[in-house]
Amino acid sequence: MQLTVLGCGDAFGSGGRNQTSFHLKSRGGEILLDCGANTLAAMAAYGCDPEAIDAIAITHLHGDHIGGLPYFLLHQQYVAGRTRQLDLIGPSDLPHTLPRLVELLYSNLRQDWNFPLRYSSWQSGDPHHSAGFTLRAEPVVHGIEAYGLRAEAEGVVLAYSGDTEWTDTLPRLADGADLMIVECHGYAQACPGHLDYKTLVVRRDQLPARSLALTHLSEEALAAGDHIDLPVLRDGQVFDLSRGAGR
Ligand SMILES: [Zn+2]
Ligand SMILES: [Zn+2]
Repeated sequence: MQLTVLGCGDAFGSGGRNQTSFHLKSRGGEILLDCGANTLAAMAAYGCDPEAIDAIAITHLHGDHIGGLPYFLLHQQYVAGRTRQLDLIGPSDLPHTLPRLVELLYSNLRQDWNFPLRYSSWQSGDPHHSAGFTLRAEPVVHGIEAYGLRAEAEGVVLAYSGDTEWTDTLPRLADGADLMIVECHGYAQACPGHLDYKTLVVRRDQLPARSLALTHLSEEALAAGDHIDLPVLRDGQVFDLSRGAGR
């Protein structure tokens, strides 16, 4: 499994980072985890083909995680000429929110897509299978219906916290993961609905993943720089997560 960090920023452009999106590629296909507003530009910059995407998994319906979906759909319709199905998996309101979002941004668009959109919700608790990936979700705490995700393929597990404050589902997400991407919005400043570095240091032993990497850092957290002892993601990074691969 290969991970490309398309965007590991917050909603505010802190540090010049793109809004959240992670690209995962396995032998069975390609998926995105979240799709922040500038994801298409990030895909072009980092060599990921939107047409190759089989599924997009959404953690929660905040703009910095779904703002790129309308542009993604428009690109597939008018640039890529897509005809094959696109799977969208997310919170229960996604099938209502996304058409409304497209309507607000492009009021003259009929939304008669030339490709089937298959919506699924995390709410059932069942795993989803798409593009060779098994996707599971655990509810997290963010003031809105929100999930952390586990994406498994080829015997490799990537866990991603989504946006959340500390919650007891995080250890379950981390359990046995090869890499866990954890949001770390603050350094010392607690922010409701988000994690901070001081909390993660205290809780590190409760996250049984082989390695952690931090995402979604605010200006305050980025400014802490050298005081942060866990790896911090950067836009454009590529990880080979296959078992035995160096990283
Ligand atoms: Zn959020
Ligand atoms: Zn966010």
